[in-house]
Amino acid sequence: MTERQTTLEIPVSVEGQGLHTGTMGKMTFYPAPANHGIKFKRIDLEGQPLIDALIENVISTSRGTCIGSNGAKVYTIEHVMAALRGMNIDNALVEINMEEIPIKDGSSKYFVKAIREAGIRELDAEREYIEITENISIEIPEKKTRIEIRPSKRFSLNVTIDFESRVLGEQTAVMDDIKEFQDKISPCRTFVFLHELEFLLKNNLIKGGDLNNAIVFVNHQLPQSEIDYLADLFHKPRVKVNGNGILNNLSLYFDNEPARHKLLDMIGDLYLLGKPIKGHVTAYRPGHHANTEFARLISDKISVVTND
Ligand SMILES: [Zn+2]
Repeated sequence: MTERQTTLEIPVSVEGQGLHTGTMGKMTFYPAPANHGIKFKRIDLEGQPLIDALIENVISTSRGTCIGSNGAKVYTIEHVMAALRGMNIDNALVEINMEEIPIKDGSSKYFVKAIREAGIRELDAEREYIEITENISIEIPEKKTRIEIRPSKRFSLNVTIDFESRVLGEQTAVMDDIKEFQDKISPCRTFVFLHELEFLLKNNLIKGGDLNNAIVFVNHQLPQSEIDYLADLFHKPRVKVNGNGILNNLSLYFDNEPARHKLLDMIGDLYLLGKPIKGHVTAYRPGHHANTEFARLISDKISVVTND
């Protein structure tokens, strides 16, 4: 069966705040022709520079994946890239008027919703996959990270996280087919440990933080006064630590939502290969640095073949 490339039927926008800059901005997905791929366009900058969503343009992976070229950058692209891959969108031009993708609720849910609203159009061109023909793996011993991909007819992932923490130990998430992305993976929100949040706040590295944006794990005992201080910083009513070590009033969508979110991040980062992949990924303690290094390694070894 031949699969066709796709794009969006009509343009669609998502507005919201950037997590790190705190700026409000607007992002619009536009339809694009076959073999265009995914590109970002900074419409707030002179000359409206384009940035191809490709692994060679990754310039930073601290607290999110950032791409840059032509003198422009876009931060935190991974949840949008995951939504595009998860919805099987091959071609789109993503215009944005700030340097960071809106964080929304820290998942891919709102991007998926926008793509669904716009509709998906098939193009008169065959979809090309990156077919994995041999096992490829990467290890980062200092982070106890290992990622491997092996040949498969589908794109599937098995992701295990282990923060060696009382409140967030080993947890695994599985996706057997990209068809599962929308319901099982796309709503899964990002998470953070309270001690990281304190560091980010004190160093002015997080501004758009709203406690709705992330699941916050508290892995050490804190006096209520400190929790209240954080709540005040976020302009929220006072918050408490729930029994499962989660700070705010969120309830998890899934017991393993954090592992599912790391799986979501991997889908987004691997889509920087520029084409959908066929292969089974097994990952232990992945992260944006490891994911993008792994994508670079695959990029060096792949042969692109047309789906039959
Ligand atoms: Zn993420």
